[in-house]
Amino acid sequence: KVRVRFCPSPTGNPHVGLARTALYNWVFARHHGGDFVFRIEDTDAARDSEESYQLLLEVMRWLGFDWDEGPEIGGPHAPYRQSERSDIYLDVLARLRETSYTYDCYCTTEEVDARRKASGSKLQGYDGFCRELTDEQVAAFRAEARQPVVRFRMPDGELTWDDLVRGDITFQTEHVPDFAVARANGQPLYTLVNPVDDAMMRITHVLRGEDLLSSTPRQLALYAALVELGIAETVPRFGHLPYVMGEGNKKLSKRDPQGNLLNYRANGFLPEGLLNYLALLGWAISGDRDIFSIEEMVEAFEIRDVNPNPARFDMKKAEAINAAHMRLLSVEEIGRRSLPYLAGAGLVSDPPTAEQQALLDAAMPLVAERINKLTESVEMLGFLFVDEADFARVDEIDEAGHGVVKAAYDALSALPDWSTAAIEEALREALVEGLGLKPRNAFGPVRIAVTGRKVSPPLFESLELLGRERSLGRLSAALG
Ligand code: GLU
Repeated sequence: KVRVRFCPSPTGNPHVGLARTALYNWVFARHHGGDFVFRIEDTDAARDSEESYQLLLEVMRWLGFDWDEGPEIGGPHAPYRQSERSDIYLDVLARLRETSYTYDCYCTTEEVDARRKASGSKLQGYDGFCRELTDEQVAAFRAEARQPVVRFRMPDGELTWDDLVRGDITFQTEHVPDFAVARANGQPLYTLVNPVDDAMMRITHVLRGEDLLSSTPRQLALYAALVELGIAETVPRFGHLPYVMGEGNKKLSKRDPQGNLLNYRANGFLPEGLLNYLALLGWAISGDRDIFSIEEMVEAFEIRDVNPNPARFDMKKAEAINAAHMRLLSVEEIGRRSLPYLAGAGLVSDPPTAEQQALLDAAMPLVAERINKLTESVEMLGFLFVDEADFARVDEIDEAGHGVVKAAYDALSALPDWSTAAIEEALREALVEGLGLKPRNAFGPVRIAVTGRKVSPPLFESLELLGRERSLGRLSAALG
């Protein structure tokens, strides 16, 4: 059975690269009827935070991912937070130390550097000095009260794997130095715990970012030892997903506003719109089609089709794809999903009152087809929900506009019937015929006066929904 894992570290804000990794893993698992395991790699106490952890869970839920095992739901390999698994790692470490896969290393970094310099070697990292120490050497180090780190002995020769995205990859192990798996204080390191978890959780496929490719040879070597010790059953297949590049051809980082996932939710993206866009960062459903649902992706996704070349992040395209998904939603659905944004802006209560809901139901059909993000509901409809005392105009009415607003006020205040049709007729008569204005010049200032913006839902309907009293109040306020 296919078993993949998504194992972020809870540092900072969840970012786009992370979500793309989660998506490909999730889709791969679902395509193969496998398990999606969610694990938290929180072994770096200095950088990890509970807040980041909570945000990760929140974002995963917002994007609509479910997990078969992981935080909050548990599973057969619980716990799923590395910070709660130290006993397991200490046990594996103890077993490794009984074998020749590891050795104790007493060298300081200064000593290693000095030896590298003296020998003129171009190789980086540890030189294997402590691989074969005599008892006398060990006794001498101990006499100096040195505490050893535990190092993994890399095998000689080559390490090759058939990468699921990149095909055959070969590393000469002389370029992969023996690496520490535990600190001098006995604490297991990330280099150990990440493969140990994959082994014990019976992960079959590791799909992760290209930035982790250089750690794969070490993990493969360690895996071989874990298989030997009976801790791992088999070695997983590895696939390294392409980098996501942002502005100036630099890797998109989480400090980049475009890289921060929370911004997409705050800016009114639909989760399915964002997922569709993220899917395209390295994969395509076909040559001529950009818009698809996650179900369609699950159906079509083959890891071999992932493009190994860096993907370019393009905000305009992300927005266009989101807009296309907005067009697929019913007016009611857009209204329902806009509510948290309206509530967040303090425009409706949560849940909305019956009156607010009725106003939303009446207004949503006017804007649903024109908005590309949920936050635009707030921009477009805010004028209807705002308390009169808080109403403020975003755009300005120019000099010529004041005369127009005055004429509109006079025409509308005399109107017996406050309906869209009557309002339209009265305004056309007073402004287009009466003042001889082009419709744009006639209605623009009125629009700004009552909605506060140059861009708004259709004007006559807006006036009807706003009601006579509020409309006339705003027109007269605009006159100063
Ligand atoms: N915890 C690692 C990260 O956040 C993931 C390591 C992996 O996927 O093997 O980058």
